[in-house]
Amino acid sequence: MSPETPAERRRRAGRIARALEAAYPEARCALAFRSPFELLIATILSAQCTDKKVNEVTPALFARYPTPEALATAPLADIEQRIRPTGFYRQKARAIQGSAHEIATRFGGRVPDSMEALLTLPGVARKTANVVLGNAFGVPALPVDTHMKRVHARLGLTTSDDPVRIEQELMEWLPPSAWTPYAHRVIHHGRVCCVAHEPRCDACPLATDCPWPRARESARPSASRKSARRARAAPAARSRHA
Ligand code: SF4
Repeated sequence: MSPETPAERRRRAGRIARALEAAYPEARCALAFRSPFELLIATILSAQCTDKKVNEVTPALFARYPTPEALATAPLADIEQRIRPTGFYRQKARAIQGSAHEIATRFGGRVPDSMEALLTLPGVARKTANVVLGNAFGVPALPVDTHMKRVHARLGLTTSDDPVRIEQELMEWLPPSAWTPYAHRVIHHGRVCCVAHEPRCDACPLATDCPWPRARESARPSASRKSARRARAAPAARSRHA
């Protein structure tokens, strides 16, 4: 089969985006928040943790420390205990308190709304900044997490596993107005259908535009040949050791 041209890939990306919209019209950010500050803190806490678990701990955290100033001056040990269920709680406590301190002292108590400024905050990398920009400020953004990486690799819409490169490639295929909702839908799709182990390709709304099921099928005969070879070799090896 001849390689896909850029124009063909752009058309396929458009079909995929439309199929995702039809399948998951209500997909949203799964983190609970009432302000950019709450979303920033929740997103930092969501590293290596489910959004559900984060949503269980943040109401009490924000009730006790509702502003950047309050969180910046809180006893570190108390923050650690409150966020402990999210894992890596010592590093996360330092990160959220450090970010709160920077927001309180350098940004007048308001979360900055630019990628450049967000990246200066402790614990904030590009994915977190994109979540905040896209969901708290309405700035088109493509946060690339583990679901975005896996789904796009299987769809053949990226040639890289570097999140920054994936973000750049997707920007070529999709208009800015589509970025944030598209990312929500892909992440949701990665959670409910294109899961890491045993993706549900038979029920997938993207199956007609995804090369992965065919690639998996064509890989199967060679795997079968290898196991057949191993099976044939086993009696000979046993007889040598007998
Ligand atoms: S067809 Fe399978 S691999 Fe492709 S996106 Fe759907 S679930 Fe994922």
